[in-house]
Amino acid sequence: MSREDNSAPPRILVVDDNPANLGVLVDHLEHHGYEVLVALGGLEALDRVAYARPDLILLDVMMPDLDGFETCRRLKSRENDTDGCIRDIPVIFMTALTDVDSKVAAFAAGGVDCVGKPFQIEELMARVRTHLALRRTQMDLHESEVRHRRLFETAGDGILVLDCDDGTVVDLNLQCSQLLGRDAAAMRGAGLNDIPVLHAQGGRAIVDALRAAGQMKWDEWSWQDADGAPVCVEVLATTYRSKDRLLAQYTFRDIRARKDAEARVRHMALHDALTGLPNRTLLMDRLTQAIAQARRDHSQVGLLLLDLDHFKHINDSLGHFIGDGLLEQVSQRLRGVLREVDTPARLGGDEFVIAACGLTGPADAEALAQRILEAMEPAFKVDGYDLRVGASIGISLYPSDGDNPSALLQAADTAMYQAKKKGRGTYRLFTRDLSMAAERWHALSNDLHGACERGEFILHYQPQYRLDGIPNQACVSGMEALLRWRHPTEGLIEPGLFIPLLEEHGRMVETGRWVLRTACAQNAAWQAQGLPKARVAVNLSAQQFYRGDIVRAVREALDESGLAPQWLELELTESLTLDDTEVTLKIMHELKAMGVKLSLDDFGTGWSSLAYLKRFPLDRIKIDRSFVRDIINDASTAAIVKNILDLARLLHLDCVAEGVETHEQLRYLRESHCPEIQGFLFSRPIDAEGIPAVLSGQVQLAAA
Ligand code: C2E
Ligand code: MG
Ligand code: MG
Repeated sequence: MSREDNSAPPRILVVDDNPANLGVLVDHLEHHGYEVLVALGGLEALDRVAYARPDLILLDVMMPDLDGFETCRRLKSRENDTDGCIRDIPVIFMTALTDVDSKVAAFAAGGVDCVGKPFQIEELMARVRTHLALRRTQMDLHESEVRHRRLFETAGDGILVLDCDDGTVVDLNLQCSQLLGRDAAAMRGAGLNDIPVLHAQGGRAIVDALRAAGQMKWDEWSWQDADGAPVCVEVLATTYRSKDRLLAQYTFRDIRARKDAEARVRHMALHDALTGLPNRTLLMDRLTQAIAQARRDHSQVGLLLLDLDHFKHINDSLGHFIGDGLLEQVSQRLRGVLREVDTPARLGGDEFVIAACGLTGPADAEALAQRILEAMEPAFKVDGYDLRVGASIGISLYPSDGDNPSALLQAADTAMYQAKKKGRGTYRLFTRDLSMAAERWHALSNDLHGACERGEFILHYQPQYRLDGIPNQACVSGMEALLRWRHPTEGLIEPGLFIPLLEEHGRMVETGRWVLRTACAQNAAWQAQGLPKARVAVNLSAQQFYRGDIVRAVREALDESGLAPQWLELELTESLTLDDTEVTLKIMHELKAMGVKLSLDDFGTGWSSLAYLKRFPLDRIKIDRSFVRDIINDASTAAIVKNILDLARLLHLDCVAEGVETHEQLRYLRESHCPEIQGFLFSRPIDAEGIPAVLSGQVQLAAA
């Protein structure tokens, strides 16, 4: 055995029509460890080759059916099939013809060698070994070439091979041609500068630099494809020598997907998912930049904190889906009124912030706030609902109110809270006094714990007067119970300050129950004293209405006090009644069935869908004092009030105008046939001790 490796032995096909020759040859070959196949003629040989795939053929020249030359020619003309290479199988001729012509003919037919007959066996074996070894090397090379070609073609990265000397494209794979948006075939042989990307990166210069360094660092290149979309790749290049040429191989890794993902993550980290607006993080960053810029060019930065006035009610009663839809629309309207340089952001919930830079003073910020408030005015259409939400805006300015983002945000927050207190739909600039108020507010928040148990709450009552009847006369028809907190050190505190705190801490239900019981007991006591009877009106908060088992609370208050139900009126705010679901209607009807009166407070500020007026079992509407305030100097407001009064009459609803402060307002309301009024002009809210005198008519009405 002369073979060194232990793979399958080489297979040799011996073709000879002389069995004696065959016998000798086969013995020798087998003796040397080869696997031997035989064929007795050319035709048989052609047949066997197709399925036996020998590594070498020993071919006799003189054969009866098909001579060796012809057999070889036919072999060599075989198409390469998938396993390749029938025609690459080396053929050694064995011939008795020793003339040169025959040898030439043997090589011309495609043979690799020619041995004379009778042959010297050692020589033949040596030639067989040599050609098998050659064949092996050839096969290995071919295999390796196929493998590398495959690697090249199927590589995930684009690969471009350039000739460093003349700057032409030697080769490129499919990925590369796709990245470059060029046909691969057309690019082979093209020059450096015919490839815009390479040209743009410096053309010849990058190749020279690469040639000098041998290898380039990872770099990122980007360009636009034919449609103008960005293509971004990571590039690595090396040089290597092939034959006498220096080649440069550029590998392009497509990183568009990665870039997109990175951008998405970055966007998600910096934006609010619902509205797509910048979030707190991005806002703070932009604000820092804006402050730095303002410091340089001595301008001012305005920070506007916007809070929606009725949002909580919408979410509570109509659900998050509607709430989300509303927030999206609010953000769209915000975008609509802002300049390119302003940054709108959402901090969460219904809080939005606008960072406005390049301002010259507070007036600019106020103008912007005004524009925003106006943009929020038209009703929002969400899923078939017409929603009206006012907004309250607090404004702080760099440098006057703070020199860093958090200080400005804090100041704007304080101002916003004050804007809310001032009445909805307004803005307020931060001042130092407000900051004091904010601190006080936090202190109050602590003090509020246990205030009800300690008996610190009291009720004041504001009389309501009936205008129809005797001209220029008015008599008390009811009184609204208004909650006050007698703070041990701060004195009497108004509800606007602490009711939001109670709601925040979830104490409004229990406090509201106390108000109901106290108001009913008080009214029953006045009636027991023989005073003229009047309704007592109690305000209900949304929390009480939806979470407080309000029907039971009212029944208990009536039962405990013995007050007849028609002398109790419940004031529902408009924002609360917007939810005309079955739940709201059911509660209202249960209350109605008990015999108590229902009125709609602050009419006109919230959901002006007049449909509610017909659907709900109401007795009275209370025209909001913001309308009353403007009836004298604003003709359209005056017209609205007249219309509300007409509408109420048509729907057989009673009507109270709130916040009447002047004689002009009173005169207008009288002329418009407003049945009842309530306001400072007649009486401020007074404590319970003052009421008997009012009820018995002993108090002279200046305004009557
Ligand atoms: P409201 O129900 O609209 O009450 C009327 C408010 O207008 C009262 O403020 C009253 O003092 C004020 N007012 C009356 N006449 C005039 C006027 O001529 N001019 C002006 N500028 N204001 C006038 P108050 O007592 O500060 O109450 C504010 C709000 O707090 C009330 O608005 C009501 O929504 C709420 N509230 C008060 N007490 C309670 C309560 O026991 N429970 C609930 N849930 N809310 C209450
Ligand atoms: Mg009220
Ligand atoms: Mg009111």
